[in-house]
Amino acid sequence: MKAIVIGSGLGGLLSAAKLSGSGYEVEVFERLAMIGGRFTNFNINGYQLTTGALHMLPHGPTGPLAQLIKEVNAKVIIERQDDTAFMRIHEDLEKGIYKDVPFGKFGSTFSAWNRIKLALLLISTRKWSPKNCSFEEWITKNLNMPIAQQMADSFCGWALSLKAADTPVEEAFEIFENLYRHGGPGVPIGGCKAVTDALADVVRKNGGSIETKTEVTEILVENRKAVGVLIDGQKHMADIVISNIGHPFTNDLCKDAPTTPQYKQYLDKIRTIKPSAGVKICLAANEPLIGHGGVLFTPSAKRVNGINEVTNIDPKLAPPGKHLVMAHQTVQWDRIPFLEEEIDLGIADLERIFPNKDYEILLAQSYYDGWPVNRSSSGTDIGNTTPIEGLYVVGDGAKGKGGIEVEGVALGVKNTMNIILG
Ligand code: FAD
Repeated sequence: MKAIVIGSGLGGLLSAAKLSGSGYEVEVFERLAMIGGRFTNFNINGYQLTTGALHMLPHGPTGPLAQLIKEVNAKVIIERQDDTAFMRIHEDLEKGIYKDVPFGKFGSTFSAWNRIKLALLLISTRKWSPKNCSFEEWITKNLNMPIAQQMADSFCGWALSLKAADTPVEEAFEIFENLYRHGGPGVPIGGCKAVTDALADVVRKNGGSIETKTEVTEILVENRKAVGVLIDGQKHMADIVISNIGHPFTNDLCKDAPTTPQYKQYLDKIRTIKPSAGVKICLAANEPLIGHGGVLFTPSAKRVNGINEVTNIDPKLAPPGKHLVMAHQTVQWDRIPFLEEEIDLGIADLERIFPNKDYEILLAQSYYDGWPVNRSSSGTDIGNTTPIEGLYVVGDGAKGKGGIEVEGVALGVKNTMNIILG
């Protein structure tokens, strides 16, 4: 059996590693000159910056991605420091007066009445998951205080690049359940590139091939079945095709898609998919700005949702004695035309969060449309199958339920492999 994989992002490489280790002949085609998509590094002045992710796996060494990496025998070391997530609550943002509250004790800043309500909600929602509203609506109804809403925005902005108002409450609570189940974040030693390079090694070791600078221009469909792809006018035939580029771009490549009612329904669903947008600001610091390898959530900031300093776990991600600090902020869809203003507001936040600290800005990157934070915003993923037999979609355009970012990618790949391999 032969599988063709379109794209060498994390989802494509995980699928290729699993299929090539399960007896499939695998060919991966990547249009860029490098592999890894939005999960690899590039070097600027000795700092390992990235094409996307902030060098963090949301559930560290015990999450779905770590499990899948182990299952395909990829060699990656993932480290986690315990109890290192904090909420930085500013009493006065302009004057820089704040306190850092441990993430697990975020309720300690609430009024006494809301603390009691929160304790009851933490128990009851694990039994009866809230439904049919946004996370923000749920917060407003149950804990009507600005700090609770700011914390929800900070968490959703950091983890999903969404406002709480755009996060379905079902997805938020699936995510909390996964946090209970799998624990908090960790960092792969060597950063994102260590993960995608190790997966590529597995694919090659298993006899698979990965071709860069090779763009797939069409998915060949015969009798409602995917039979291969077109590259430079040449047909490459296969038994199954795995697309790592999200449902809408996958559909664009299916020039002979069927015109059945089922396919029309699929097209209707595709039209509702919105990629989530964001801005990442990378700092080179001459001193630790955070001092731990976890996340500093910033609910009081105007734009920045959270910040990490991965060099506290892997010092080699920066030159000796220096720190790499990365701040993330969601960009609301109607603000995409104003990215420069969004970046300036993020930089102003960082100046207020780290007054008198010794750092410089290395790079500000924006992500939207075809190179987004998530190809399908969390909670709106439509699954891994398509109405075309033998055509599957993996990656963050087809995440598993409750999967934050690359953990969602791993859950989606796991689901796809269960369908294909049984
Ligand atoms: P992609 O990275 O989308 O790869 C798809 C590949 O397909 C690309 O290489 C592309 O070039 C190729 N391709 C496209 N079209 C074609 C074609 N026609 N033919 C051949 N090849 C093609 N996640 C985390 O878990 N932790 C984080 O800290 C984190 N932070 C993030 C911060 C930012 C700013 C961003 C943008 C993302 C972040 N993420 C994070 C999300 C994470 O980076 C992505 O979810 C993940 O990398 C997406 O992988 P993917 O499998 O969907 O593939």
